Amino acid sequence: MHGAGDGRTGFELHKKTIAEETMNKISRNGFGGALAFGRRDLLRGAAALGAAAALRPLPAAAQAGGGYARLPGRGEFVIRNAYVLTMDDKLGDLPGSDIHVRNGAIVAVGKGLHAPGAKAIDARTMIALPGLIETHWHMWGTAASNTAGDDPKMGYFSFAKAVGAIFKPEDNARGVRLAIAEAINSGLTTVHNWSHNIVSPAFADAELQAHRAMGHRALFGYGYFGIRMENQAVDVADLPRVNERWIKPSEGLLTLGICSRGPESNTMDICRTEWEAARKMGLRISTHVGTGLARVKARQAIKQLNEAGLLGPDVILVHDTNTVDTDTETLAKTGTYLSLSPFTELRTGFGIPPVREFVKAGVPLSLSVDTTVLAGNCDMFAITKALLNLANGEAQSEFAMPARKALEIATMGGARALGIADRVGSLTPGKRADIILVRTTDLNMAPFTDPPHMIVQSANPSNVDTVMIDGRVLKRGGKLVGFDVARIVREANETAVRVRAEAERISRG
Ligand SMILES: [Zn+2]
Repeated sequence: MHGAGDGRTGFELHKKTIAEETMNKISRNGFGGALAFGRRDLLRGAAALGAAAALRPLPAAAQAGGGYARLPGRGEFVIRNAYVLTMDDKLGDLPGSDIHVRNGAIVAVGKGLHAPGAKAIDARTMIALPGLIETHWHMWGTAASNTAGDDPKMGYFSFAKAVGAIFKPEDNARGVRLAIAEAINSGLTTVHNWSHNIVSPAFADAELQAHRAMGHRALFGYGYFGIRMENQAVDVADLPRVNERWIKPSEGLLTLGICSRGPESNTMDICRTEWEAARKMGLRISTHVGTGLARVKARQAIKQLNEAGLLGPDVILVHDTNTVDTDTETLAKTGTYLSLSPFTELRTGFGIPPVREFVKAGVPLSLSVDTTVLAGNCDMFAITKALLNLANGEAQSEFAMPARKALEIATMGGARALGIADRVGSLTPGKRADIILVRTTDLNMAPFTDPPHMIVQSANPSNVDTVMIDGRVLKRGGKLVGFDVARIVREANETAVRVRAEAERISRG
């Protein structure tokens, strides 16, 4: 089933929109000019890219690390004498304990484990915990971090719309590579790449190639193209191809989902078509809701989704900062997940996320980066701390949210939302080995007191000593292992410089 159900592909629909917009002379000032130019430019090249991408075999280099990463083997390790926060209710906290890892899986957790032949990692002064998990991040935009300015012409939505149209597939990939490198460095082992700059299948391929090269765990949310546009479906016809080419060979590291414009920007018919296609394939579905009370549609989104039978535990809604009526009860009752990104919600004026209300109603929560264009970085420790502080601030109580609850949301909460709680989110034997070790001897971490509070309130990415993903050690001794960081940064800089220069040149005339 294609696009709008009338035989046009998603890309044809994009083209039509581009043409319409150009004809209608959408030419706002500043980056608006760039938008019109970018899309006209795009028309010439993207059709060929889109068609060619579907069949072209990957170059050999891309099948390895693509020159960006040399992934180490999985091997066998034993982490010795850590303070282990398992985040598993049955296992609890295990001071002075070991974690035995073999072939990417956690074999055992406990004191004095017998693990002959396993490479030992001394963690005497460290806290071991499951890798952090976020659930909504427009990773392509990382190549344009901090470019949203301070007036409406340069604001996030006009900027992201304009820049998205200028980006080429390789620019998307550069954003994703930089994002993943920063994520691993920060102890963020799983992300939801909420990919909403897919101009053609080549853009999805470029991002997925970056995921494969970096050995990171992700839900790839196949989205759309063009921010703040209306009535465009996800190109669901491309999903089976992506599944075969990228998801199945990923050894369980990648899962697939869709990211819809949702009822605030699409008709309910389009939503139904998208949901049906995703549900047939068992995919996660995500959309933004409730970011502005002034917009009538934002008041109705959850009600409409519920009445159409489109909510449920395979759905991740994002933001809902302006929740209305009985929406929170509806989310709780249907088991619909919610992803909160407190820093961008505050920065962009979506409002103050009513954390307390969500917790009270029993809405299953998870946390997200959203975009570094606004958030500036992907520090999940800070995001988790912001959640806790918002909950207590709203309640005007020191005791509304315990640190352990916030940490639970940043680990198991994320794993449940992404549908991978059977594999990650806690240090439980049998699960995959996504483990981080946080130093407790750094100035901002000392003295050693209460580990959940230390992690949520004191820790930052610089305290992350070791990161293991699927049993591969990707950060050790505070340094990334096997990544060409200089190249990743250099290329992201090239994109940022080119994109900004192009936009400025166009806006001048
Ligand atoms: Zn978003």
